[in-house]
Amino acid sequence: METTAPTSRRAPVLQTAPKVGFVSLGCPKALVDSERIITRLRAEGYELSADYQGADVVVVNTCGFLDSAKKESLDAIGEALTENGRVIVTGCMGVDEAHIRAEHPGVLAVTGPQQYEQVVSEIHNVVPPAHDPFLDLIPPQGIRLTPRHYAYLKISEGCNHSCAFCIIPSMRGKLASRPAADVMREAERLVEAGVRELLVISQDTSAYGLDLKYATSLWNGQEVSARFFDLTEALGRLGVWVRLHYVYPYPHVDQVIPLMADGKVLPYLDIPFQHASPGVLQSMRRPAHQEKTLERILGWKSICPDLAIRSSFIVGFPGETEEDFAFLLDWLQEARLTRVGCFKYEDVAGAASNELPGHVPEEVKAERYARLMETQAKVSADLLSARVGKEIEVLVDEVDEEGAIARSAWDAPEIDGCVFLNGQSELEPGDMLTVRVEHSDEYDLWAEPAGVSS
Ligand code: SF4
Repeated sequence: METTAPTSRRAPVLQTAPKVGFVSLGCPKALVDSERIITRLRAEGYELSADYQGADVVVVNTCGFLDSAKKESLDAIGEALTENGRVIVTGCMGVDEAHIRAEHPGVLAVTGPQQYEQVVSEIHNVVPPAHDPFLDLIPPQGIRLTPRHYAYLKISEGCNHSCAFCIIPSMRGKLASRPAADVMREAERLVEAGVRELLVISQDTSAYGLDLKYATSLWNGQEVSARFFDLTEALGRLGVWVRLHYVYPYPHVDQVIPLMADGKVLPYLDIPFQHASPGVLQSMRRPAHQEKTLERILGWKSICPDLAIRSSFIVGFPGETEEDFAFLLDWLQEARLTRVGCFKYEDVAGAASNELPGHVPEEVKAERYARLMETQAKVSADLLSARVGKEIEVLVDEVDEEGAIARSAWDAPEIDGCVFLNGQSELEPGDMLTVRVEHSDEYDLWAEPAGVSS
């Protein structure tokens, strides 16, 4: 329901730098889009406002993946309208402009994902850039919304798959990879600016470069190929943590495991398996659903015993039987994945899976969700307890008067566990140190410094 009185489209002409408020919802990929828009705005002399009241316009970068995410996006738009009144909407939900306008007719403009130029031009319409901006307002590494010591590195947009539950290809289009030299230049700038961990993201990282026919490009006088292995190896030479997200278990992924065993990139793979039962994977139309993933995982661990695999699963997909679900639980106990997220299946407007027969009742979904989380909690607790007494390297994310919160190679920011360093208030975010693990629970570790390593 719209709650705000209509506002004039244009803000008064400003003598000072115009200020933009930014609300960024959704996945890390959306966060990277926000960062690009902000980088461009800063280059034009805009400033960011930390609150609604100080902003001349508010941009809401939405997520439209699940109905729950859409609701969150609509709520955020409503809040921005109430608190500020001048709101531009962008991001994944922007493809459904009619829905947004039906709920919030007062929004000034709606643009879709990756439409950086359109968002910026809409902002110009509402709040013109300050007179004669200095081009050097922008630091060489761009502006990042993530803390200074880690940054997401988006290597491609879009996806060539057609998973039955997903509307991302229709929102974001087919795979479009960035040339390898472009990615490497951005990565290098981030490292020069103090970033100590690069999180490689895309919709399908293992497919990187397919659309470019793996073309080479020139970076620092060397040819780098737009190929998953070559890019990973080049990033591994930058001397910072490199973490790979959204990888599918294709045979060529085997090639990066020795890089992990040799410490060139983090021993971490984020693989959204979504299920294990062959029948469910087939009706989900998942990439690599015919691969023998359990054998592949065991093979990887024989080369790199420290490998952490994070994954997400959907329970209650249409047609999922109790037998399919039991298969998944057995698979999880054998695969012993380090980190697992779980979602209850939801219909998403426009997804092919809505039409599938055998929708699972909500109470069955809830029961399967609880059983999966319970099974995985035991696996996770067991894996983490094996770390007690060991020395591990950690990167500090946050510090307060009670101590520091850090992460190990096995923990991606925001989604995985933490390593708590109680009493270590003198540390700084971005510090890297070696710690000795003293205690564990189902998801987190507690540790004491064993000596500063850098
Ligand atoms: S791989 Fe499947 S789930 Fe992932 S973006 Fe592509 S279609 Fe969607």
